[in-house]
Amino acid sequence: MTDTEKKPLNFIEKIIEDDLASGKITQLHTRFPPEPNGYLHIGHAKSICLNFGLAKKYGGTCNLRFDDTNPAKEEIEYVESIKEDVKWLGFEWHGDIRYTSDYFDQLYDWAIYLIKEGKAYVCDLNADEIREYRGNLKQAGKESPYRNRSVEENLKLFEKMRAGEFAEGACSLRVKIDMAHPNMQMRDPVIYRIKHTDHHQTGDKWCIYPSYDYAHGQGDAIEGITHSICTLEFVEHRPLYDWFIQNLPVPHTPHQYEFSRLNVNYSVTSKRKLKQLVDENIVSGWDDPRMPTISGMRRRGFTPKSIRDFVDSTGVTKVDGVVDVSQLEFAVREDLNTNAPRAMCVIHPLKVTLTNYPADKVEEMSAPLHPQREELGTRTLPFTQTLYIDKADFQESANKKFKRLVLNKRVRLRNAYIIEADEAIKDENGNIIEVKAHIIEDTVGKNPQDGIKAKGVIHWVSATQNVDCDVHLYDRLFTDKAPDAGGKDFMESINPDSLKIVTGCKAEVNLAEPRTDIPYQFEREGYFFADSKSDGKRVFNRTIGLRDTWASRS
Ligand code: ATP
Ligand code: MG
Repeated sequence: MTDTEKKPLNFIEKIIEDDLASGKITQLHTRFPPEPNGYLHIGHAKSICLNFGLAKKYGGTCNLRFDDTNPAKEEIEYVESIKEDVKWLGFEWHGDIRYTSDYFDQLYDWAIYLIKEGKAYVCDLNADEIREYRGNLKQAGKESPYRNRSVEENLKLFEKMRAGEFAEGACSLRVKIDMAHPNMQMRDPVIYRIKHTDHHQTGDKWCIYPSYDYAHGQGDAIEGITHSICTLEFVEHRPLYDWFIQNLPVPHTPHQYEFSRLNVNYSVTSKRKLKQLVDENIVSGWDDPRMPTISGMRRRGFTPKSIRDFVDSTGVTKVDGVVDVSQLEFAVREDLNTNAPRAMCVIHPLKVTLTNYPADKVEEMSAPLHPQREELGTRTLPFTQTLYIDKADFQESANKKFKRLVLNKRVRLRNAYIIEADEAIKDENGNIIEVKAHIIEDTVGKNPQDGIKAKGVIHWVSATQNVDCDVHLYDRLFTDKAPDAGGKDFMESINPDSLKIVTGCKAEVNLAEPRTDIPYQFEREGYFFADSKSDGKRVFNRTIGLRDTWASRS
């Protein structure tokens, strides 16, 4: 479906249109709030497309906010990668980058406000005791013995927490809500913890850090976010989100809406698990082309449009589900089939000598860059006496189904002559190392005059004018459809054949300086993208094959 076609509104769009129509809001303001504790993955792409996409659609704005409340797991490398990924996907954030840490002073002041209102207290229970006191779904919790400390005592203790006078875990600041509340999130949640850790944005200024629940909604309120969109696991947190908004003197009143996470089969979408693949060297890094990260998909040759189209095709709902990875691959093929320039590359070269073609002759064959899109122009291919074809494209004898080169039969060389094979030369082990053949004169762009047509078309490159390259053939990273479902260890279903490296491939001369913005279609082989990290060596990553071959394999 194109952008201009009318699509039914999803439930969030309905809410926004109602809010705009009723005058509840005059302008939509959303945000994308990643925690910088890993590289973004395909699931985040959905959240990005949704938040930025809605702002674009309704003439609003979308902030990029780093939700950086946990200094222990966060790094500046992740901040930089996230910025790059958002831009690459085609979106622009509103104004400056925001950091939740920009609001630490304000959040601290509001914590003091809550203490003064008698709504927050310093609690000396440790994490285990807090859990124990919290009770469970069937049983009400118990009040902390520190719950009724005086405002003065709480102010003094909180100041000491901030001043670094307590060890980690010695105490925390909690809000006083209701220890018997049916929603566990409302049983006096912790809003400040002591962490003697430097922060990538605030350095050593703080040794107490706000909880996600406390910081997130207030960040939304400070930025004037109207619709705070997150995933379904936060449904239970919404009453707490609202409690803070109602009990603090915030400048705006944002609302939280939840949609279902995007999960894709044959992969894992959790930064923690992806980090484990990186840390244990299962992959070469966060941007390994097999990773479901945005940077991995970019390096592999997936286009921003294909990812946006895929995400769009998955819809926005409140029902959790798993999307088939072939749906993503379909979107990639669709885009590349339309937009990838064509080229020829022989992955397993077999030499062909044309015995009736002069050794010093070079013909410049013209070939379209895209067979259906004349406007993209043409390229030139040198045709010479010796060529390479793929080993798989020659057999001494074969049945009719084999529409490639066979002894004493004809085949068309793509964009060039029809040739006929005369002899297979073998080494001492019986392996075919060369084919002798001859061209049929006057067959470039024409059928032969003797009426004996060629059954098939194969790709080729000149054996004397070409460029060397390696190709990296990728397969799914996991053999299990649901690698981490039901507590399974995803490390046990790593596909040992997820990367095959083929060296000594021969590509047409036009790939000497390959494009870095879009993959090529290597005719008859698939889509291939010049690797951005292979210094010195020319390497092409197979983005995806021409057809879905997985379906027929399993
Ligand atoms: P992970 O589990 O991979 O660490 P996360 O939810 O902890 O993901 P955040 O950095 O907190 O990662 O996520 C930023 C935003 O992206 C949040 O609003 C979150 O709801 C959203 N998001 C994360 N994963 C998905 C997903 N699989 N599908 C849709 N949105 C997602
Ligand atoms: Mg998170």
